[in-house]
Amino acid sequence: MDQVLKNQTAIITGASSGIGAGVAKSLASAGANVVVNYPVESSKPAADAVLKEITDAGGIGMVAQCDVSQEAQVIRMFADVVAAYGTVDILINNAGLQRDAKFDEMTLDQWNTVINVNLTGQFLCAREAIREFLRRGLRPDVSLATGKIICMSSVHELIPWAGHVNYATSKGGIKMLMQSLAQEYGDRKIRVNSICPGAIQTPINRPAWETPQALNSLLTLIPYNRIGQPQDIGNLAVFLASDLSDYITGASIFIDGGMTVFEGFATGG
Ligand code: NAD
Repeated sequence: MDQVLKNQTAIITGASSGIGAGVAKSLASAGANVVVNYPVESSKPAADAVLKEITDAGGIGMVAQCDVSQEAQVIRMFADVVAAYGTVDILINNAGLQRDAKFDEMTLDQWNTVINVNLTGQFLCAREAIREFLRRGLRPDVSLATGKIICMSSVHELIPWAGHVNYATSKGGIKMLMQSLAQEYGDRKIRVNSICPGAIQTPINRPAWETPQALNSLLTLIPYNRIGQPQDIGNLAVFLASDLSDYITGASIFIDGGMTVFEGFATGG
């Protein structure tokens, strides 16, 4: 892959598995120094394995523990990365989880856990990233933009999702977080966009693909007739983080094999 992100540093939250791991590998192969974030000690071996794959392939990076819902931990992670690499150029706000329940049975703990990680976590990381972008200013030799933030949203910022109201609400919130930041900091040449994946094969949605029956049922929602892979998201992340997309800000980019053209209406009936 072209080294379009050479001399840039990217923090990828929740990068010890799934989409985050795929994005970290793609950004590293595009030349970025990548920070593979993981939330708790038990996920450190998986983060180390992602980093090893990156460095074995000639990439540069480090692992960093931080629960994105904890303000002090987020501030410390950004300080550690600035100490290691001098600055941060790219934030991939990817960490996320689900705590599914029928709405009338949903506990406050299930609600708060999802909002705290998926939405407040994105707020805390975006705030530290923007503080660093503003402190450092533009480096025209490195990028046309002062900094880039990519929020991992979902098709569920558009498609309501019964049984997952906390999750869909968090993704709807990310849409407005992203667009408002793009509006507030565009004049400082900070770009903020969202990636909205459809069904990507990762641990978060294992029940939707682990049996042939589940996969077939899932494919009825996907015109392109295959489940997505983390690499699909990684390719888009490289584009959105690079100057190739310099005129894109405030945008939600759907990457879903056509899920949002609503396959159920394909027969015109
Ligand atoms: P995943 O479960 O493999 O990845 C989620 C990651 O977030 C894990 O590595 C986990 O350790 C990390 N994480 C959880 N809580 C954290 C915290 N407090 N601090 C830091 N990290 C934390 O699932 P995934 O599919 O790779 O999900 C990544 C993102 O993509 C999520 O935001 C998810 O909502 C979004 N997404 C996934 C799909 C899909 O089909 N897989 C579709 C749309 C959106």
